[in-house]
Amino acid sequence: MSMVVTIKLIQEAVLRPHQMHQQLAGYDADTIVYQLITLLINSNCIDETTLKYITRFFTPETFQMLVLQRINNKRCGYPLCDKPVSHINHSDAFSLINTKTSYFNKFCSDLHMKSTSFLQAQLLTTPLRERVGIHLISNYDIDKFQRENIMYNNIVLFEEYIREKTLDQDLDSIMKSLETLEFQI
Ligand SMILES: [Zn+2]
Repeated sequence: MSMVVTIKLIQEAVLRPHQMHQQLAGYDADTIVYQLITLLINSNCIDETTLKYITRFFTPETFQMLVLQRINNKRCGYPLCDKPVSHINHSDAFSLINTKTSYFNKFCSDLHMKSTSFLQAQLLTTPLRERVGIHLISNYDIDKFQRENIMYNNIVLFEEYIREKTLDQDLDSIMKSLETLEFQI
């Protein structure tokens, strides 16, 4: 049994030893990412807020490492998901013909393949050690975080995008690019 990942767990198990400085040393930043990946290989984020919180620690490259590790562990690559990867049912040739198969063995569903690509496309490329102060627990105010959705957290999840049917042009352009983008592994 592994624990579902919460913001509290991340702060106490991963971030607590790194509260001395505003800016992380390279080694400390690497340790945080490694520990987050380790937590999320055998578990998943408890909710959307937690997933959005962890995005502040990832670049597109390190996020891809997380996704690949989950897939290697036969979990859906999307870190919010608690399901296994999907499997092709060879006895049902008809469904194979009619189903986009690119997500099989990587994600539980086409939806979560898109959710993963959509999230990855928004992540900052700035190295974690240059993201000053984002790991400090004392800087974190959950009400502010949820209300303002700012400070290295200007991230919209695919689920939110669908729910809110936003007309934000940046997001629409991400969506358009996903039409042709397969998740590369
Ligand atoms: Zn999934």
